[in-house]
Amino acid sequence: MQYEIIDSHCHLDFPKFSRDRGETIERARQEGIIAMINSGVDYSTNIASLELAKKYDFIHATLGLNPQMVPDASDEKISQILSQIERNIDRAVGVGEAGLDFHYCETESGRQRQIEVFRQVIDIARKYNKTLVIHGREAEDIALKLSHDLDTVVFHCYGGSLETMREIVDAGHFVSVPTLVCFSEHHRSIAKHLPLDNMLIETDSPYLSPRKGRNEPAFVADSVPQIAALKGIDASEVAISTVRNTRRVFGI
Ligand SMILES: [Zn+2]
Repeated sequence: MQYEIIDSHCHLDFPKFSRDRGETIERARQEGIIAMINSGVDYSTNIASLELAKKYDFIHATLGLNPQMVPDASDEKISQILSQIERNIDRAVGVGEAGLDFHYCETESGRQRQIEVFRQVIDIARKYNKTLVIHGREAEDIALKLSHDLDTVVFHCYGGSLETMREIVDAGHFVSVPTLVCFSEHHRSIAKHLPLDNMLIETDSPYLSPRKGRNEPAFVADSVPQIAALKGIDASEVAISTVRNTRRVFGI
């Protein structure tokens, strides 16, 4: 590989990697993936993310609270995760993924609860001056309104409108383009219009594979020439810019 790449969002701790986690990480390194950001989504995956970051110096953890679990979770469970994030904040390069997912939550009360909990996560990011990694699905505009004034925000796996994307960029925040860009027209349009200075790239492994079956960090390499072709620039330019942006966003 003639250039280095960073996978800015993955879940290497998930069970899909139980059988071959070490080999998967090694494959990514062989492909030129110099760093991976592993995002926790709840109590146990936050612990697993910290363990991975401890074991590998090129894996970094963000500590999160996935909105999908919020409508049915007890107050006790939510506050357990929030205090876990605060307790371990020094070992994390960011807070998230957290945010809003209205796709799977159609009740007004469930959505309100997601907003309430998300506000608390935003408060933690603000208090400790950490980058916030947002999972915003079918509620990207609301997620932006709530987090707008933070220093640094990343909309991970962005699939919202081009209009909201421009507002994210105007606020000085970042959009992470997933490997979906290899086959989804909407994500290709996002990548085409997103300024390189505001772009990160990710796999969201084990989800959303650009190849058959499971996604893995090595496959973020597939996105680089695709995005370069959409923008009419060199692949190395995409790699260099996204590495620089990711380093800046997470302080790595
Ligand atoms: Zn994720």
